[in-house]
Amino acid sequence: MAGVKLDLVRELASGLESLLFPSACRACGADLAGARLICRRCRDYLTAPLPETWRRRCDLGEEAVGRWARHPYEGPAGEALRLLKFGGKRRMAALLAAGLAPLVQVLKAATGVEAAVPVPLHPARRRERRFNQSEDIGRRVATAVGIEFKPRGLARLKYTRPQVELDGEARRANVRGAFAAREDFSGRTVLVVDDVITTGATVAECARVLCETGATTVVAVAVAGAGLTEASEQ
Ligand SMILES: [Zn+2]
Repeated sequence: MAGVKLDLVRELASGLESLLFPSACRACGADLAGARLICRRCRDYLTAPLPETWRRRCDLGEEAVGRWARHPYEGPAGEALRLLKFGGKRRMAALLAAGLAPLVQVLKAATGVEAAVPVPLHPARRRERRFNQSEDIGRRVATAVGIEFKPRGLARLKYTRPQVELDGEARRANVRGAFAAREDFSGRTVLVVDDVITTGATVAECARVLCETGATTVVAVAVAGAGLTEASEQ
């Protein structure tokens, strides 16, 4: 349960930071100038229009079936995600969803995505955190883009170690058999929504399970991708 303790430590650190620096942007440290938690510049960055190169590639369908991360994890997106997950600042979900929705809109046009499923948390972690950040973000994105949202489409069967503590093959082994589909996705094109994609092992396992239930195509998106440079996709 090291992950749970780590969550608690981060939550406390986040609370302490806001007490010490109440007027600083939590993503970049700049003066908030009346904004809450995240400054205007960081908000604009997180909700900037989709880069034209992406739009073209998505329209052509070249990379449409695969894994897409909207922002690099290093930077405002990672900070906003930490505020959401460990600081309990659930309003961050709306900001992050606003940035992710245009990407999903283009992917929908290219692939005909019909339903969105969040990567689920294990029930024990969900109880501890009280919400699933990927569900909060995914629900808003699905509503904005006009696709069906299936918050219970996948279940997490295994209490896995955080992927961040592992690498390569260990990550794939860690999530193998971790998920089960709870709905019938026969003949459907499904979008998996995660908060962070690192190696892609988690969303690949979700896709495998969804395809087993008959999904024809699975596309995965995340707010942030680890190790990405600005405006790139994986
Ligand atoms: Zn900022």
